[in-house]
Amino acid sequence: MTASERHAKGSRMRIAMIGTGYVGLVTGTCLAEVGNDVVCVDVDPERIATLRGSKVPFFEPRLEGMVTRNVAGGRLSFSEELGPAVRASEVIFLAVGTPSGPTGEADISQVLAAGLQVAEAADGPKVLATKSTVPVGTGDRLDELVRGATSERIDVVSNPEFLKEGNAVEDFMKPDRVVIGTDSTEARELMSDLYAPFMRTSDRAMFMDRRSAELVKYAANGLLATKISFMNEVANICEAVGADVAKVREAVGADPRIGSKFLFPGPGFGGSCFPKDVAAMAHTAREVGEPFRILEAVGEVNRAQKLRIVAKIVRRFGEDLSDHHFAVWGLAFKPGTDDVREAPALTIIQGLLDRGASVSAHDPEAMRTAAAVLGAGVHMAPTAYDACQGADALIVVTEWNQYRTPDLERIKGLLRTPVVFDGRNLYRPGRLAALGMEHYPVGRPSTKLE
Ligand code: NAD
Repeated sequence: MTASERHAKGSRMRIAMIGTGYVGLVTGTCLAEVGNDVVCVDVDPERIATLRGSKVPFFEPRLEGMVTRNVAGGRLSFSEELGPAVRASEVIFLAVGTPSGPTGEADISQVLAAGLQVAEAADGPKVLATKSTVPVGTGDRLDELVRGATSERIDVVSNPEFLKEGNAVEDFMKPDRVVIGTDSTEARELMSDLYAPFMRTSDRAMFMDRRSAELVKYAANGLLATKISFMNEVANICEAVGADVAKVREAVGADPRIGSKFLFPGPGFGGSCFPKDVAAMAHTAREVGEPFRILEAVGEVNRAQKLRIVAKIVRRFGEDLSDHHFAVWGLAFKPGTDDVREAPALTIIQGLLDRGASVSAHDPEAMRTAAAVLGAGVHMAPTAYDACQGADALIVVTEWNQYRTPDLERIKGLLRTPVVFDGRNLYRPGRLAALGMEHYPVGRPSTKLE
């Protein structure tokens, strides 16, 4: 069936997803959920074996049930073999990693290698859509690469992904926008059909040239990261002048041109996207001779912000922390995920360990992933309260719901000294002081008991 015939019929598609991480698995499963036939491919045999048992190798709300349902329905399968998956599919997505290189550039070697494998396996016309976040011009490089490897027609399309870990299924099923970069009419029709079931209330597909589509993703993440770093610096000024960032945030966010979202100060942003995408866009900008001074600063501000809580702890307890023990609540880079990539908690814990302290940590989902990075030197506590036992202070790093209204009196009883470093402003100033506890929030007045 040609793309135009399919367009007229609007029938299901056969899809291969190359890379079955957060993005690939969510995308593949959601595409199967609306009736398509999807095979998810990964080079990691352990991952494929786990998925074949209908187990999701990471925590993402709603995903496991959806995987189970679609596997049972015969629409979703998993494979280590790329060739057969490509030959059986009309659309092949690349959802492999694009980690940071040594000078902040995005390392696109996995994308190019997978793209080449797809071209070598192709036995007919295909659409090759890049979901991975890649620098401008990667689509052109892929295009050249596949043309050199096959005489089959392969339309290389940019289709960046905007899902948020912790809400990924919802984000994919109800996207704010779907960005599609291509100048091929057939590829445009096919991608438009593919996404139609996700946009029944209104069409949010945005078509553009490939280079613009590639840039959208970096510009969006760059702007979001800028908002966070901006408010973190406002919070730091609030601390210096005795203002309250919570009040400032509310009033600033009331302006609809600014908006109230993403204005919460904290211990800096982490995750697999913002830090690397900010660095990659700044790198691209330097390369093309248009230095992105704001983004360079955003990265720098964020690195400093992650260490700020450690500096406060040192001011309170001294540089040598070898006789000290701390409780850390929250290891994931944000609530709703077990992802600890670039998580502020890791930097903070390392800062404490470097000064000789010992640490007990708790997280509802991320203790396994964090332990894999931190090693056995950090005690993972079975409950949040267990982590506080005998600690000199509690440090709250990730704003999981269960940390919002804890039994503060119980915490006071468990701690050796009643001190809370509140990295997410979860507790009202005055509330802890009333209980005889010291409180160090972000950008709000601290209460130190003398
Ligand atoms: P990930 O590291 O979780 O998953 C990538 C997967 O690709 C791994 O399982 C790896 O084994 C597999 N892989 C690598 N080479 C392969 C090959 N040749 N064939 C088959 N599988 C291969 O990565 P992720 O978090 O899903 O991110 C993927 C891309 O999407 C990145 O470019 C990222 O920047 C972007 N992105 C991520 C998010 C997010 O929230 N995680 C959101 C939007 C965009």
